[in-house]
Amino acid sequence: MRKTPPKKAIFLRHRRRCPDPAADASGLTRRTTILLDLNTVVSELDSMATSVPIDAPWTTPRAAALDSQSLETWLESKTQNPRLLVLASVATRAIFGAEPREVSLLFTLFYVAAAGDEKTPGTFERLFNTRNGAQMFRFVGGSQTIPLRMASALGPRVLLNQPVRSVTQTAAGVRVATDSSTVSAARAIVAVPPTLAVRIVYDPPLPPLRDQLTQRVFQGSLIKAEAVYDTPFWRAQGYTGTSIADTTPANTTFDNSRRKDRPGYSSASSAATPGGLPAALRRQPTPGGAQELRHLPRFPGAHPA
Ligand SMILES: Cc1cc2nc3c(=O)[nH]c(=O)nc-3n(C[C@H](O)[C@H](O)[C@H](O)COP(=O)(O)OP(=O)(O)OC[C@H]3O[C@@H](n4cnc5c(N)ncnc54)[C@H](O)[C@@H]3O)c2cc1C
Repeated sequence: MRKTPPKKAIFLRHRRRCPDPAADASGLTRRTTILLDLNTVVSELDSMATSVPIDAPWTTPRAAALDSQSLETWLESKTQNPRLLVLASVATRAIFGAEPREVSLLFTLFYVAAAGDEKTPGTFERLFNTRNGAQMFRFVGGSQTIPLRMASALGPRVLLNQPVRSVTQTAAGVRVATDSSTVSAARAIVAVPPTLAVRIVYDPPLPPLRDQLTQRVFQGSLIKAEAVYDTPFWRAQGYTGTSIADTTPANTTFDNSRRKDRPGYSSASSAATPGGLPAALRRQPTPGGAQELRHLPRFPGAHPA
């Protein structure tokens, strides 16, 4: 029986394409120059992550020590390989919207642990993999379909474009005020990121520890763009559509085409750092967003629609 050759991902370094026949579906290059270091570092992260209880990461053995160093300082203590450090940055931009220096080692381990389920422990690769990993499933129609359908079922009770300005606790419950309306209820659930939750005025004020937490947890910066091509041409070339780049604003791409779609969709992520995709697009606005495609890592034979 003839075996189908494995599909390839590409790794772009300093804008030069380095097709790596040994790259796996996740796109993480298996080049021997970094293979050993990569395996050592990732295995150690995976192993350390098994000691993190995801429902109470602060109870991890040596939690304070793990939380007082960044992922970057830990990586630097493990490897001097500059290629691996570059690859680590590209990975954390895609996963956290942040640089390795901006996330603590404990948070990284917690995040890796949270990639597990009841049967399988979390691993770093599960965060990235297109097979048995976080990049495996997509919602037909987009994940926004869930809140859109919920909003439709709730009807006029959903108030749009009315950010909550204040939450006041009363003897009867809570009073939630926007610029144009006030709602009274038994309870309020604030389901916004900490950096935005702190912009709401609370009466009585939040407990001091909670208030301080919201001031210290920063928001990552990440944006996604979809490039639409006539066909998923990369498949015929033997590529997975996964690419990882250390220089272009679009740090990673994944094949986002539906199985039977004729058009090919490439989903690109970019950390919104000063050199990131949003800044590049602001500098070169064009009708139809044609310039956006220029910033995507190119597979051989690219013909953007
Ligand atoms: C570029 C990007 C790509 C991502 N890709 C993936 C992916 O492929 N898979 C995946 O699983 N996750 C992905 N994520 C993460 C995912 O989007 C988040 O984990 C998820 O949206 C968090 O949901 P949430 O409801 O907690 O918060 P949010 O989605 O942030 O929702 C908070 C809502 O509260 C609203 N709000 C804020 N302030 C107020 C206020 N004062 N009053 C009223 N409303 C307010 C906001 O407008 C927002 O609608 C991605 C995130 C980004 C940024």
